Amino acid sequence: MPDKPNPDRPLTDDLPTDGPLADGERHLDPDDWHAFRALAHRMVDDTLDFLSKVETEPVWHPMPDAAKETVRGPLPRAGRGESETYKAFAESIQPFTNGNRHPRFFGWVQSCGTPLGMMADMLAAAMNPHCAGFEQASTYVEEQVIEWLRQLMGFPKGSSGILLGGGTMANFVALAAARDDRAGFDVFTEGLQSEHPPLVFYGSSELHGWAPKTANLLGIGTDSFRVVGVDQRYRLRLDELRAAIARDRASGRRPFCVAASAGTVTTGAVDDLDAIADLCRDEDLWFHVDGAFGAWARVSSTHGDAVRGMERADSLAFDLHKWGYLPFEIACVLVRDAAAHRRPFAISGSYIVPTERGTLSAGLPYADLGLELTRGFKALKAWMLLNAYGVDRIATILDQNLAQAGRLIELVEAAPDLELLAPTDLNVVCFRVQREGYDEGQLDGLNREVLMRVQESGVAVPSSASPGGRFGLRACFVNHRTRASDVDRLVRVVREVSTQVRAD
Ligand SMILES: *Cc1c(COP(=O)(O)O)cnc(C)c1O
Repeated sequence: MPDKPNPDRPLTDDLPTDGPLADGERHLDPDDWHAFRALAHRMVDDTLDFLSKVETEPVWHPMPDAAKETVRGPLPRAGRGESETYKAFAESIQPFTNGNRHPRFFGWVQSCGTPLGMMADMLAAAMNPHCAGFEQASTYVEEQVIEWLRQLMGFPKGSSGILLGGGTMANFVALAAARDDRAGFDVFTEGLQSEHPPLVFYGSSELHGWAPKTANLLGIGTDSFRVVGVDQRYRLRLDELRAAIARDRASGRRPFCVAASAGTVTTGAVDDLDAIADLCRDEDLWFHVDGAFGAWARVSSTHGDAVRGMERADSLAFDLHKWGYLPFEIACVLVRDAAAHRRPFAISGSYIVPTERGTLSAGLPYADLGLELTRGFKALKAWMLLNAYGVDRIATILDQNLAQAGRLIELVEAAPDLELLAPTDLNVVCFRVQREGYDEGQLDGLNREVLMRVQESGVAVPSSASPGGRFGLRACFVNHRTRASDVDRLVRVVREVSTQVRAD
């Protein structure tokens, strides 16, 4: 990479300045920068108001028909201007989210975002760099973020990584690398059309839904994703895994990967990562870990041990827009063998041949590490998060979330009308309302009704899960705004609402 520009370059002070528009010329900049500046300041002020008083709002309320009507409409031929458009947004769009920015949103696994993250996204959009690479600051920011994440996750120096839109894409990229590295032939050029043993990979029945999608998109089909059973703690059963691998080898298939979970989406279970790492070493299989949210436990001071062995993985996928607290979208994949990471994605083309100096002198490194060519500047919000708050403060909040999960477990265990549905290794609690004399079907119905009423109350938004086939409420703690008192209120509203649901 060049460190000094060509000394013979011409001076640039004779470049034209912003002259008047010629007849018929248009642009999309404001007609009046002064007025636009005032509008932009209002947008920022309104947004900060909206964020700073978020806990005074209901967690969720449905979007009224009138607001939906405002969103819809005929294709606008003539625009109605920036101000009017912002007004429509502020009235009919901004208030109606599913609630994930609120401290009592416990549903699914969704970060609440941070105000600094919001500003970082705005600043990134203003810079609008093309993040395939290029000799520009964004290239170095992403490189640094990947390096920090590598250290946090305990991957060795020289590992490769890229930021992606989500955990689904991060897991997909990892499995593509795994397939091409372990197939035993050149998948990139031959594809899967020639005669080779069928490829198979393994994961537990609790592995996330990216696995079948990925099996299809890798061209190996969903039957090639071998679903292994789980134990009482919802962890992949190693005896079943060993037996499945032996069976597949005996019938001429080619196992290439085990995909373990560090934090399953339903109950937060962590597979025995050390044991799976040993098995993959012995069986010569690629060891992948889906740590979408659970990987962050490594950074916690109380639960780091829960994900021990994760650092031995060949690849690790994790989100920063779940337990990393950042606004959507941002995830990361780390791959131990940098060459294996590039293999499915690196291509060449005359339009991307780097020059020794100039704009392309840093090349397009990120185009060779994933599917996308044009990419936005996701790295900035991660770089700003870590710089502004530091790992120690983030670790404290991770601990806080884990303690909140512990608190909910205690409250559920202490309440005669509630019961836990599953153990957890991390920050996900599944529980349900229990009622004397109800059979399983009636309990499902009762809890379904309780769930909807709690969400509609606006007091809290849990989601649902059915571990072991029993329907219940599910609370996931990935929110830096949640406080212990919010956990108490969740339990209170669930119990209150449940007394209003009669038997029928
Ligand atoms: C959310 C999740 C994913 C998918 O990540 P996205 O960012 O939603 O694409 C994968 N695995 C687990 C365990 C998850 O919780």
